[in-house]
Amino acid sequence: MSGLKHHPVTIIGAGVAGLTAACALAQRGAEVTVLERAGALREVGAGLQISPNAMRVLAALGLESRFRAISLPSERVELRDSTGRMVARLDLARHRPGDPFRLVHRARLVALLEQAAREAGARIKLGHDVTELPDVPLLIGADGVKSRLRPTLNGPETPFFTGQTAWRALIPAEPDAAPVAQVFMGPGRHLVSYPLGQGQRNLVAVVERPDWQEEGWSTPGEPSELRAAFARFGGPVPEWLEQVQDVGIWGLFRHPVAAHWQDGRRALIGDAAHPTLPFMAQGAVMAIEDAWVLAACLDAGPDQEAALARFQALRQPRCRRIVEAANANARNYHLRGPTRAVAHAGLRAVSRLAPARLIERFAWLYDHDPTTP
Ligand SMILES: Cc1cc2nc3c(=O)[nH]c(=O)nc-3n(C[C@H](O)[C@H](O)[C@H](O)COP(=O)(O)OP(=O)(O)OC[C@H]3O[C@@H](n4cnc5c(N)ncnc54)[C@H](O)[C@@H]3O)c2cc1C
Repeated sequence: MSGLKHHPVTIIGAGVAGLTAACALAQRGAEVTVLERAGALREVGAGLQISPNAMRVLAALGLESRFRAISLPSERVELRDSTGRMVARLDLARHRPGDPFRLVHRARLVALLEQAAREAGARIKLGHDVTELPDVPLLIGADGVKSRLRPTLNGPETPFFTGQTAWRALIPAEPDAAPVAQVFMGPGRHLVSYPLGQGQRNLVAVVERPDWQEEGWSTPGEPSELRAAFARFGGPVPEWLEQVQDVGIWGLFRHPVAAHWQDGRRALIGDAAHPTLPFMAQGAVMAIEDAWVLAACLDAGPDQEAALARFQALRQPRCRRIVEAANANARNYHLRGPTRAVAHAGLRAVSRLAPARLIERFAWLYDHDPTTP
């Protein structure tokens, strides 16, 4: 028997997690209300990389062709040193044919999910800042890294500043820009760039610096500071940075994956449960996976407490592993001195001799299909 038909569900937050959950739950017959603080789901944010594990969910929600229309395929990832010289390449299209990796502007993904959630019957109330947690039969906290529900279930926590600061910017893409994600790695800093479609190129640049920065998505930064921090980088980087007009800046914080995701009546999904550093490009992907698994668990039977416990048991170990992999990449990209020379030489050799191995290391991540129990 379905546990969701006519079941009222209240979701806090209309980000990627909240809207995917709204869509998945409403498609299964739940009566979904989403409460979002923002007055409009505006053009905020920049690029997201969406890997096959999340694409399987978008396909199961019936959104694959619409998503393809707003995103670009990602053919490969290139790891380069700060001069622009190739260190390794991961040929996603060649080694994983049929497994789409895609690049998209966050705002376009959010707009698609909002439309799909509304089409499935979800009500989305914008301009609704939740200051007190409502007492409802089922409350989902999809309210991001500064979640209100998370401390209620876990007590107060102090995130740890990693000593890394990130800038992000959009610049015009070259008309012939290859659909490739490039990572330029220098001592204590790295820069990631990829085209996003619709004439946009995404830049994210991370440096180690001790001064604290706000953890949020809307703090404006200084383009000249970004250019100065990457002044020694070569290849296409100087030309890209010259074009930056507006830049956002945010501090990278490490949060533990929440110990308690649910209490039988309330549950956390997305960044509210497991904020991650961006170095595996899995923040939005984990949110999409969570949303599907939550809906599937709730739909499996009428026992909501058992369903939420199962949801946590299925998701928590996987999200922990992904967050730890992102933490490890934070170190690997910024190596200095002899360690860096040895690591880059090793990567070059593997990339030349056994290129598929670089991707196969992450089979546990990308081969996962959240839509099969
Ligand atoms: C404005 C913005 C821009 C972003 N830009 C990027 C980017 O460029 N690149 C990238 O990799 N990631 C970006 N992210 C983060 C990325 O979207 C998330 O890491 C990932 O998608 C997981 O999403 P989430 O839905 O769990 O959390 P979020 O995307 O953070 O969504 C949480 C939502 O909850 C709402 N909310 C929070 N508290 C309340 C409350 N009390 N009442 C009502 N609503 C509330 C927020 O307004 C937000 O819409 C951005 C997030 C935001 C909010």
